[in-house]
Amino acid sequence: MNIILFGPPGAGKGTQAKFLIEKFKIIQISTGDILREEVKLKTDLGISAKNIMDNGDLVPDEIIMSIVEKRLAEPDCKKGFILDGFPRTLNQALELEKILKVQNSEINKIIFIDVDEDILIDRITTRALETSNIREDDNSTILKNRIKIYKKDTKPVLDFYKNMKKLVTVNGMMSIEDVSKAIVKLL
Ligand code: ADP
Repeated sequence: MNIILFGPPGAGKGTQAKFLIEKFKIIQISTGDILREEVKLKTDLGISAKNIMDNGDLVPDEIIMSIVEKRLAEPDCKKGFILDGFPRTLNQALELEKILKVQNSEINKIIFIDVDEDILIDRITTRALETSNIREDDNSTILKNRIKIYKKDTKPVLDFYKNMKKLVTVNGMMSIEDVSKAIVKLL
């Protein structure tokens, strides 16, 4: 089973991905986590991505696609995978289709975790205040930019999968546990 977890920043994709990995014994591919690791290791890729990420902008599609293509070629993806934070542009979604076609594989479902904008802002502000390990992209000016970019560049991805009849929606404003239950029901 190959799944995309989709939703605005702060929707809880990472939390739900962790639950699904355990439940279905499949792997998670988070482009955000991969990029943060590259930043930490100060690789060339990490160095060029850092400022973009700190501003809440999108890392160029070519960089993202080379990361994803490499990762999807690993043998552990054969048993199924969860994509989290990708695709974030229509172009990334189209490129993903090409990669999967070559591998004779496909996305089975895209799960949209739907959360109202005012709740997102509350959540990320709280996350920024509570964690000692503050993410530089968790402050409110940058968050507003991330939400703006989500609306402009990422939302079109929803329509793409909706047209393919692969989109299912869960209410992401319920408790973490109830969101997990709703996702399992839909799979
Ligand atoms: P979120 O808090 O929404 O889960 P992520 O951890 O997925 O955020 O991503 C953090 C940052 O990494 C993004 O704001 C963006 O700069 C970059 N990034 C991650 N995935 C992608 C992608 N698929 N395309 C472009 N940029 C990405």
